[in-house]
Amino acid sequence: MTIMMDHEEELLLSTVKSFMEENFYPHEEMVDRTGEVPEELGRQIEARAKEVGLYACNLPEEVGGGGLSLSAQRLIEREYGKTSHALHSWAARPTEILLACEGDQRDEYLLPCVRGEKRELFALTEPEAGSDAMGMRSNAVRDGDDWILNGSKHFISGPCMPDFAIVFAATGEDETPRGKRKRVTAFLVDVGLPGFDCREGTKSVSYRGYKTYQLSFDNVRLGPGKILGEEGRGFEVANQWLGMGRIWVGASCCGKAERILEMATEWAANRKQFGKPIGQFQATGFRLANGAMNLRAADLMVSDAVARHERGQMADQDAAMVKVFCSEMLCQLADDAVQIHGGMGLMEELPIQRLWRDSRLERIWDGTSEIQRHIITRSMLRPLGA
Ligand SMILES: Cc1cc2nc3c(=O)[nH]c(=O)nc-3n(C[C@H](O)[C@H](O)[C@H](O)COP(=O)(O)OP(=O)(O)OC[C@H]3O[C@@H](n4cnc5c(N)ncnc54)[C@H](O)[C@@H]3O)c2cc1C
Repeated sequence: MTIMMDHEEELLLSTVKSFMEENFYPHEEMVDRTGEVPEELGRQIEARAKEVGLYACNLPEEVGGGGLSLSAQRLIEREYGKTSHALHSWAARPTEILLACEGDQRDEYLLPCVRGEKRELFALTEPEAGSDAMGMRSNAVRDGDDWILNGSKHFISGPCMPDFAIVFAATGEDETPRGKRKRVTAFLVDVGLPGFDCREGTKSVSYRGYKTYQLSFDNVRLGPGKILGEEGRGFEVANQWLGMGRIWVGASCCGKAERILEMATEWAANRKQFGKPIGQFQATGFRLANGAMNLRAADLMVSDAVARHERGQMADQDAAMVKVFCSEMLCQLADDAVQIHGGMGLMEELPIQRLWRDSRLERIWDGTSEIQRHIITRSMLRPLGA
């Protein structure tokens, strides 16, 4: 472990490790091979997570969550990163956006998610609007006190069929100094509403068994009380969470990198060619050394971002730097680990090929590396008026 912890954090980590030994690691290979987490296994993970206090551990105690500090959550995300989303997403950490629920929404959406009675999806991406979220075509128009929703979403991921989706849709346009800008609103949309079709979408080779869903809305009537936050302020609601989401991607990449590095180091120490362990060849040893250095740097960036967030000083570019650095560090390390394993790195018998496939997604979701670099560049140029 390349990060420092206090005694309480060590205890938490030991609970998480035992939980993972019992509930995740024994099933990884089967889930990757079959592309499914059997419902019974998913429910068992859910139940065990509740028993040990890991379910909804990210949400505050006032709403029934675990009330963990950001440092503690970081440890969990880092450790969970060693395995597959297909498994650890059953030990849910409901999206913090739900804390924007008000009035009856708390009983209908937030609290059931904390108790594990309901599951949500976060639905922003569309077939024609990925990186360019503002290019979204989903829209809602007012009809008396109701809203009528039309459009579609894809690549919306979760462990199982959800009960509702948090759907981002355009509800008008504002004039701004930079031209017209869509007003985007977040809606709470129940699965089963007339006109709302939610079905399994294409399968990803990263995190096999973690489902993606495609959603389509054909004149879906949403009654009063279905806007999360305020009309036209959907991105403000989302942004409160997206930043931290990117830090958790970073933490999770560090965990996976640590696991891969351990495997590669062990292989380099034991595999002999030309009468020596291959780790003694500089070309192999330096790959390990670079991996260890870059992992240390990535972990420090996550620590720094968590500290900034705790002080209320984390900016978009801080989260972007963590996301891009940690995910690229992981992909380089995973690729080096396959190289160190030689042909065996690509064989199904070993988990390296699975971890390499899983790693690849991290540079794409939650905003691609290119989009993160845009965020960083913008933060540098804008103060100079460019
Ligand atoms: C398994 C999986 C799960 C997902 N889960 C969710 C989810 O739960 N909810 C959700 O809303 N979304 C989810 N996504 C969507 C994910 O966030 C998008 O795939 C991602 O934002 C990229 O969008 P895109 O795939 O449409 O790629 P595109 O936007 O088409 O990008 C293609 C390429 O063009 C590059 N590019 C685009 N614009 C620019 C630019 N201006 N400058 C430079 N390069 C650019 C990109 O960086 C990328 O390399 C998921 C995706 C996957 C694969």
